[in-house]
Amino acid sequence: MKQQIVSEKKILVVEDEKEIAELLTLYLGNEGYEVFYFTSSEGVLDFISENVIDLAVLDVMLPGSNGFTLLREIRKKWFFPVIMLTAKIEEADKIHGITLGADDYITKPFHPLEVVARVKAQLRRAGTYNTSLSKEEEYYNIRGLEIFPERHKVVLYGENIELTPMEFSILLYLCQHINQAVTSEELFEQVWHEKYLGNNNTVFAHIAKLREKLHENARKPKFIKTVWGVGYRMED
Ligand code: CA
Repeated sequence: MKQQIVSEKKILVVEDEKEIAELLTLYLGNEGYEVFYFTSSEGVLDFISENVIDLAVLDVMLPGSNGFTLLREIRKKWFFPVIMLTAKIEEADKIHGITLGADDYITKPFHPLEVVARVKAQLRRAGTYNTSLSKEEEYYNIRGLEIFPERHKVVLYGENIELTPMEFSILLYLCQHINQAVTSEELFEQVWHEKYLGNNNTVFAHIAKLREKLHENARKPKFIKTVWGVGYRMED
Protein backbone atom coordinates (compact mmCIF):
# COMPACT_ATOMS: atom_id res chain seq x y z
CA MET A 1 0.00 0.00 0.00
CA LYS A 2 1.40 3.33 -0.91
CA GLN A 3 1.58 6.03 1.70
CA GLN A 4 0.99 9.63 0.79
CA ILE A 5 3.05 12.10 2.71
CA VAL A 6 3.47 15.03 0.37
CA SER A 7 0.38 16.76 -0.93
CA GLU A 8 1.58 17.45 -4.45
CA LYS A 9 -0.11 14.96 -6.71
CA LYS A 10 1.86 13.31 -9.44
CA ILE A 11 0.15 12.91 -12.77
CA LEU A 12 1.44 10.75 -15.57
CA VAL A 13 0.52 11.72 -19.14
CA VAL A 14 1.19 9.35 -22.05
CA GLU A 15 0.39 11.11 -25.31
CA ASP A 16 2.33 10.96 -28.57
CA GLU A 17 1.06 14.32 -29.82
CA LYS A 18 3.62 16.55 -28.24
CA GLU A 19 1.44 19.66 -28.43
CA ILE A 20 -1.34 18.01 -26.48
CA ALA A 21 1.10 16.57 -23.96
CA GLU A 22 2.65 19.98 -23.39
CA LEU A 23 -0.70 21.69 -23.13
CA LEU A 24 -1.85 19.19 -20.51
CA THR A 25 1.41 19.57 -18.64
CA LEU A 26 0.91 23.31 -18.58
CA TYR A 27 -2.73 23.26 -17.46
CA LEU A 28 -2.26 20.53 -14.87
CA GLY A 29 0.92 22.21 -13.69
CA ASN A 30 -1.03 25.41 -13.11
CA GLU A 31 -3.29 23.47 -10.76
CA GLY A 32 -0.29 22.50 -8.68
CA TYR A 33 0.11 18.97 -9.98
CA GLU A 34 3.48 17.58 -10.85
CA VAL A 35 3.23 16.23 -14.38
CA PHE A 36 5.44 13.68 -16.10
CA TYR A 37 4.84 13.05 -19.74
CA PHE A 38 5.85 10.32 -22.13
CA THR A 39 5.28 10.40 -25.88
CA SER A 40 5.16 6.61 -26.16
CA SER A 41 4.54 3.73 -23.79
CA GLU A 42 8.24 2.94 -23.73
CA GLY A 43 9.70 3.28 -20.25
CA VAL A 44 6.33 4.08 -18.67
CA LEU A 45 6.07 0.94 -16.56
CA ASP A 46 9.60 1.37 -15.26
CA PHE A 47 8.77 4.94 -14.38
CA ILE A 48 5.65 3.93 -12.44
CA SER A 49 7.62 1.26 -10.59
CA GLU A 50 10.06 3.86 -9.38
CA ASN A 51 7.70 6.74 -8.67
CA VAL A 52 4.41 7.00 -6.82
CA ILE A 53 1.82 8.12 -9.34
CA ASP A 54 -1.59 9.42 -8.27
CA LEU A 55 -3.30 9.35 -11.63
CA ALA A 56 -2.56 8.58 -15.28
CA VAL A 57 -3.94 10.07 -18.47
CA LEU A 58 -3.38 7.64 -21.35
CA ASP A 59 -3.93 8.21 -25.03
CA VAL A 60 -5.50 5.19 -26.69
CA MET A 61 -3.64 5.51 -29.99
CA LEU A 62 0.10 5.41 -29.39
CA PRO A 63 2.86 4.57 -31.84
CA GLY A 64 3.93 0.95 -31.75
CA SER A 65 1.56 0.10 -28.93
CA ASN A 66 -1.73 1.35 -27.65
CA GLY A 67 -3.15 2.79 -24.48
CA PHE A 68 -5.22 -0.31 -23.77
CA THR A 69 -2.16 -2.53 -23.74
CA LEU A 70 -0.50 -0.14 -21.36
CA LEU A 71 -3.63 0.06 -19.22
CA ARG A 72 -3.76 -3.73 -18.98
CA GLU A 73 -0.17 -3.81 -17.79
CA ILE A 74 -0.74 -1.02 -15.29
CA ARG A 75 -3.79 -2.72 -13.81
CA LYS A 76 -1.82 -5.86 -13.04
CA LYS A 77 -0.11 -3.93 -10.26
CA TRP A 78 -1.53 -0.46 -9.73
CA PHE A 79 -4.91 0.95 -8.84
CA PHE A 80 -4.58 4.70 -9.25
CA PRO A 81 -7.25 6.32 -11.44
CA VAL A 82 -6.71 6.13 -15.18
CA ILE A 83 -8.35 8.49 -17.67
CA MET A 84 -8.23 7.45 -21.33
CA LEU A 85 -7.99 9.93 -24.18
CA THR A 86 -9.64 8.74 -27.33
CA ALA A 87 -10.15 10.19 -30.78
CA LYS A 88 -13.11 8.06 -31.67
CA ILE A 89 -15.99 7.43 -29.40
CA GLU A 90 -16.86 3.85 -30.06
CA GLU A 91 -19.02 2.19 -27.47
CA ALA A 92 -17.10 -1.07 -27.88
CA ASP A 93 -13.82 0.72 -27.13
CA LYS A 94 -15.35 2.31 -24.10
CA ILE A 95 -16.54 -1.02 -22.73
CA HIS A 96 -13.19 -2.57 -23.54
CA GLY A 97 -11.37 0.12 -21.59
CA ILE A 98 -13.72 -0.08 -18.64
CA THR A 99 -13.27 -3.84 -18.52
CA LEU A 100 -9.53 -3.31 -18.41
CA GLY A 101 -9.94 -0.86 -15.56
CA ALA A 102 -10.18 2.65 -17.01
CA ASP A 103 -12.03 5.09 -14.78
CA ASP A 104 -12.98 7.77 -17.24
CA TYR A 105 -12.85 8.74 -20.91
CA ILE A 106 -12.25 12.01 -22.66
CA THR A 107 -12.94 12.30 -26.36
CA LYS A 108 -10.69 14.36 -28.58
CA PRO A 109 -10.78 17.20 -29.33
CA PHE A 110 -11.13 18.45 -25.76
CA HIS A 111 -10.41 21.61 -23.86
CA PRO A 112 -7.49 21.20 -21.41
CA LEU A 113 -9.75 22.50 -18.64
CA GLU A 114 -12.03 19.54 -19.19
CA VAL A 115 -9.09 17.28 -18.49
CA VAL A 116 -8.24 19.30 -15.38
CA ALA A 117 -11.83 18.93 -14.13
CA ARG A 118 -11.87 15.17 -14.74
CA VAL A 119 -8.50 14.75 -13.07
CA LYS A 120 -9.74 16.61 -10.00
CA ALA A 121 -12.92 14.54 -9.89
CA GLN A 122 -10.99 11.28 -10.11
CA LEU A 123 -8.52 12.29 -7.44
CA ARG A 124 -11.36 13.29 -5.14
CA ARG A 125 -13.00 9.96 -5.77
CA ALA A 126 -9.76 8.10 -5.16
CA GLY A 127 -9.62 9.83 -1.80
CA THR A 128 -6.00 10.74 -2.23
CA TYR A 129 -6.66 14.13 -0.68
CA ASN A 130 -7.59 12.39 2.51
CA THR A 131 -4.32 11.64 4.21
CA SER A 132 -5.58 11.55 7.77
CA LEU A 133 -6.56 8.07 8.80
CA SER A 134 -6.29 8.55 12.51
CA LYS A 135 -9.93 8.97 13.42
CA GLU A 136 -12.26 6.07 13.86
CA GLU A 137 -13.61 5.11 10.50
CA GLU A 138 -17.17 4.02 9.86
CA TYR A 139 -17.46 0.98 7.70
CA TYR A 140 -19.96 -1.40 6.23
CA ASN A 141 -19.99 -5.12 6.76
CA ILE A 142 -22.30 -7.08 4.53
CA ARG A 143 -21.99 -10.78 5.25
CA GLY A 144 -18.21 -10.72 5.14
CA LEU A 145 -17.85 -7.97 2.58
CA GLU A 146 -16.31 -4.99 4.38
CA ILE A 147 -16.20 -1.53 2.86
CA PHE A 148 -14.12 1.24 4.39
CA PRO A 149 -15.22 4.50 2.71
CA GLU A 150 -12.41 6.73 3.91
CA ARG A 151 -9.61 4.39 3.07
CA HIS A 152 -11.24 3.22 -0.16
CA LYS A 153 -10.61 -0.27 1.04
CA VAL A 154 -12.67 -3.36 0.38
CA VAL A 155 -12.14 -6.65 2.14
CA LEU A 156 -13.95 -9.84 1.22
CA TYR A 157 -13.76 -12.65 3.77
CA GLY A 158 -10.57 -11.16 5.14
CA GLU A 159 -8.93 -10.69 1.77
CA ASN A 160 -8.21 -7.31 0.18
CA ILE A 161 -10.07 -6.65 -3.04
CA GLU A 162 -8.52 -4.04 -5.31
CA LEU A 163 -11.13 -1.88 -6.99
CA THR A 164 -10.76 1.03 -9.35
CA PRO A 165 -12.17 4.33 -8.03
CA MET A 166 -15.29 3.94 -10.19
CA GLU A 167 -15.94 0.41 -9.03
CA PHE A 168 -15.45 1.53 -5.46
CA SER A 169 -17.89 4.44 -5.89
CA ILE A 170 -20.54 2.12 -7.31
CA LEU A 171 -20.13 -0.38 -4.50
CA LEU A 172 -20.25 2.35 -1.88
CA TYR A 173 -23.36 3.94 -3.40
CA LEU A 174 -25.16 0.60 -3.41
CA CYS A 175 -24.13 0.06 0.24
CA GLN A 176 -25.39 3.47 1.21
CA HIS A 177 -28.73 2.46 -0.31
CA ILE A 178 -28.82 -1.03 1.05
CA ASN A 179 -31.95 -3.07 0.29
CA GLN A 180 -33.15 -0.42 -2.12
CA ALA A 181 -33.40 -0.82 -5.86
CA VAL A 182 -31.06 1.69 -7.48
CA THR A 183 -31.72 2.45 -11.13
CA SER A 184 -28.92 2.49 -13.69
CA GLU A 185 -29.76 6.13 -14.30
CA GLU A 186 -29.38 7.06 -10.63
CA LEU A 187 -26.17 5.10 -10.35
CA PHE A 188 -24.72 6.74 -13.43
CA GLU A 189 -25.65 10.25 -12.37
CA GLN A 190 -24.50 9.79 -8.77
CA VAL A 191 -21.24 8.07 -9.57
CA TRP A 192 -20.19 9.72 -12.81
CA HIS A 193 -21.79 13.08 -12.05
CA GLU A 194 -22.94 13.32 -15.64
CA LYS A 195 -26.33 13.37 -17.29
CA TYR A 196 -27.60 9.89 -18.09
CA LEU A 197 -28.37 9.61 -21.77
CA GLY A 198 -30.19 6.32 -21.72
CA ASN A 199 -27.27 4.04 -22.39
CA ASN A 200 -26.66 1.71 -19.49
CA ASN A 201 -23.69 -0.16 -21.05
CA THR A 202 -21.21 1.82 -18.99
CA VAL A 203 -22.96 0.97 -15.74
CA PHE A 204 -23.45 -2.62 -16.84
CA ALA A 205 -19.77 -3.08 -17.71
CA HIS A 206 -18.67 -1.72 -14.33
CA ILE A 207 -21.15 -3.89 -12.43
CA ALA A 208 -19.94 -6.94 -14.37
CA LYS A 209 -16.34 -6.16 -13.45
CA LEU A 210 -17.27 -5.50 -9.84
CA ARG A 211 -19.12 -8.81 -9.57
CA GLU A 212 -16.14 -10.59 -11.06
CA LYS A 213 -13.83 -9.08 -8.47
CA LEU A 214 -16.25 -10.02 -5.68
CA HIS A 215 -16.20 -13.58 -7.05
CA GLU A 216 -19.92 -13.40 -7.62
CA ASN A 217 -21.72 -16.28 -9.25
CA ALA A 218 -23.05 -14.63 -12.42
CA ARG A 219 -26.35 -16.47 -12.16
CA LYS A 220 -26.83 -16.08 -8.45
CA PRO A 221 -24.95 -13.01 -7.20
CA LYS A 222 -24.82 -12.80 -3.41
CA PHE A 223 -24.15 -9.11 -3.05
CA ILE A 224 -25.22 -7.10 -6.06
CA LYS A 225 -28.58 -8.35 -7.25
CA THR A 226 -30.10 -7.41 -10.56
CA VAL A 227 -33.55 -5.90 -10.30
CA TRP A 228 -34.91 -6.70 -13.72
CA GLY A 229 -36.00 -3.69 -15.70
CA VAL A 230 -34.90 -1.37 -12.89
CA GLY A 231 -31.25 -1.68 -11.92
CA TYR A 232 -29.41 -3.14 -8.97
CA ARG A 233 -29.82 -3.77 -5.26
CA MET A 234 -27.37 -4.58 -2.53
CA GLU A 235 -28.88 -6.87 0.07
CA ASP A 236 -27.80 -7.15 3.65
CA1 CA B 1 -2.26 9.47 -30.29
